[in-house]
Amino acid sequence: MMTTLVERLDTGKVTTLQEMTVIDLLKDGNRVIGAMALDERGAMVLLKADSTILATGGGTKVYDISTNSSSGTGDGNAIGYRAGAELIDMELVQFHPTGAVFPYDARGRLVTEAVRGEGGILKNSLGERFMKRYDPERMELSTRDVVARAIATEILKGRGTEHGGVYLDVTHLPREQIESRLPVMLEQFLKFGVDIREKAMEVAPTAHHIMGGLRITPECRTSIPGLFACGEVSGGVHGANRLGGNALAETQVFGKRAGEYAGKSEKKQTKIDPAQVENTQQNLDVFLKGTENPARVRKELELAMWQGAGIFRNETDIKKTLETVNRLSRATLYAKSPQNLAECAILQNMCLTASLICRCALLRPESRGAHVRVDISQEWDAQHSPFSHTYISQHREGIQKIEVRL
Ligand SMILES: Cc1cc2nc3c(=O)[nH]c(=O)nc-3n(C[C@H](O)[C@H](O)[C@H](O)COP(=O)(O)OP(=O)(O)OC[C@H]3O[C@@H](n4cnc5c(N)ncnc54)[C@H](O)[C@@H]3O)c2cc1C
Repeated sequence: MMTTLVERLDTGKVTTLQEMTVIDLLKDGNRVIGAMALDERGAMVLLKADSTILATGGGTKVYDISTNSSSGTGDGNAIGYRAGAELIDMELVQFHPTGAVFPYDARGRLVTEAVRGEGGILKNSLGERFMKRYDPERMELSTRDVVARAIATEILKGRGTEHGGVYLDVTHLPREQIESRLPVMLEQFLKFGVDIREKAMEVAPTAHHIMGGLRITPECRTSIPGLFACGEVSGGVHGANRLGGNALAETQVFGKRAGEYAGKSEKKQTKIDPAQVENTQQNLDVFLKGTENPARVRKELELAMWQGAGIFRNETDIKKTLETVNRLSRATLYAKSPQNLAECAILQNMCLTASLICRCALLRPESRGAHVRVDISQEWDAQHSPFSHTYISQHREGIQKIEVRL
């Protein structure tokens, strides 16, 4: 998919700008008219547009352990929120059951479901094949959320490995099968000094995908004029959890729609507001005089989110996490040169995205899909829930109620 897209972009009809970090959207009244970005030297670049599409991907880097690449910082969620757009279901964060926990350098890296598909076995530190306690029929082939919760429970009950995971073992499989069917996993672990043909992997759940995001129409319009969104930054496409494989399908279907409808949308005479640009520049300049080390603030944020807004949630811990996140959002971050401004702006976006996750987690008083509230007992299953989407914007927040379907 990526190769094809890059080839299409290379035809010369599209202008691409590399090494740009979008920090905020330009607005004329309520309408989005483009974006403000920082180039690699830290200089502000204004990008004016008739229509703007946010396609900035996921945001699970707000968690200590995450599969996302370094760009998965939830920028689009924060940028959209600041511009006034509504987001839905931000509490719905999928934890993939198997991320590497050891060696440390491999931490969070995705261990593909194909490993269990090929016959990989999950064991705790007592050597028990524990999935028989959680899903005796499907065992390791159970759904992502069931396996993730099973592994997390084993670790919480003290039956984890010394590095805080469980074992995922393929050593009983023929070496040729591992080499031919799991070459990427074999190579990935060999790079970190572990030969999975001879030694079990150590894995634990890892934050993987946010099902929530900007509320969009089927044409990918957000709640504010001039702004479209598609891909992981948008919300509601998958429901309360996501099936493996569907995110890439989403990017193709909704990417095409967003492009088409943005291209066709009406054009208006608009002008950039110099006060908005000036204000943003002043906020950036504050970083050059800041005092707090962004790396320290970021680590505290990631750990707080992992501990208080992770797989198993309760009101007290979410509120405590939100307090931490709010405190960190006010930190006077320090950029030692203009090149470091983007790092500070991204960290502020991470804090905002994390706060949206916590606030929505408090808004949903039930366990649903990937959102597990252990402090709430409920009488309904997903089909009979009285609740639909949580929603959050600068203007309103809450949870939609639906008539119970009998
Ligand atoms: C390890 C891993 C494996 C996965 N495997 C599968 C799979 O097998 N099947 C499946 O369906 N899904 C899978 N997913 C999920 C899927 O890859 C993502 O949901 C999907 O790629 C998101 O696409 P996107 O276009 O929305 O965002 P992305 O592909 O993440 O692209 C977002 C782009 O925006 C850029 N960006 C972000 N912020 C800014 C900013 N402030 N300024 C400028 N640019 C910015 C980023 O650099 C990036 O280039 C996987 C995810 C991970 C992390």
